[in-house]
Amino acid sequence: MTVINKNLCVGCKICQKFCTVDAFHFDVREKKCFVDQDRCTECYVCLRQKVCPKGAIEAIELDSFYKQFQHVLSDPVENHGVTGVTGRGTEEVKTNDVSGRVKKGEVGICVDMGRPGMGVYLRDAEKVAMACAAAGVKLASQEHTPLAALMPDLSTGKLVDECLHYHLLSVIVEGKCEEDNLKQVLEALKKVEKEIDTVFSLGLIIRTDENGETKTLDCLNELNIPQPHRGKVNVGLGKPLSLA
Ligand code: SF4
Ligand code: SF4
Repeated sequence: MTVINKNLCVGCKICQKFCTVDAFHFDVREKKCFVDQDRCTECYVCLRQKVCPKGAIEAIELDSFYKQFQHVLSDPVENHGVTGVTGRGTEEVKTNDVSGRVKKGEVGICVDMGRPGMGVYLRDAEKVAMACAAAGVKLASQEHTPLAALMPDLSTGKLVDECLHYHLLSVIVEGKCEEDNLKQVLEALKKVEKEIDTVFSLGLIIRTDENGETKTLDCLNELNIPQPHRGKVNVGLGKPLSLA
C-alpha cells in the first residue's frame, strides 16, 4: 500500500503532479499531503520514479489478494502470475494467429476500461461484464484474462463483492460472441456506458475471408456507431494452428 510518511513530508505538493489518478491530496490543517486510499491504484509510478524529493512516499505490504490484484493490474511492469503477461495480464487478440481463440463466425470482444487520469473501479467493470454476459458474450476464462479470477460464474460476469470498491488504472473485460449476436452486444454496451463512472474503448476482433473482406461490421451503421478508422492486422503467420 502506498502511504506518505508525515514525519518526512514538507507539503511541497510536487507529488500531486505525478499521480496517475489524482490520489495525492493536501491536508490544509497539517500542511502535508496524504494518499487517498480509495483512489490509489497501487500503480507505484510515484515510487518507481522517486517523485518525492524528501523520500516521504513509502510502500507498505499489500496485505490481501485484492490489493495484490490491484497492483499487478495497475503497474505496467508487473507480470501477471497466472497468464504470465505484463501490463494488464492479457494478450487479448494479439496472438490469435497462434492461439485461435477467436474462430471463424465469432467476434472477439475487448472492452478496455479506464485510462491514466481516470482509472476504473471494479464495480464498473462488473456492470460491463454482466451486460456483456447477458447479451450473449462468452467471457474469457482466467487462463487468458485476469478479471475472470474475480468472477465465480463466467456465465453472469458478476464479481465477488469483496473486490468491488478497488480502483485500478485499467482493466479489460474480454470474451467473444457469435457474429449474428454482435448487434445485441453493441446495444448492451451503449446502454451500460451511461451507467458507469469511467471511459472504455471497444476492440472488435474479426476474421476476414480470403479476400480480406467481412460484413460483420455492417451492424455498426445500423447503430450509428462510426466505422473504425484504424486497427491492428494479424497477418496470418500462425494460420496452420488456428484454421478453425
Ligand atoms: S512531494 Fe513529498 S514532501 Fe512534497 S508533498 Fe508530496 S510527499 Fe510531501
Ligand atoms: S501508487 Fe500510483 S495511484 Fe497510488 S499514489 Fe502513487 S502514483 Fe498515485
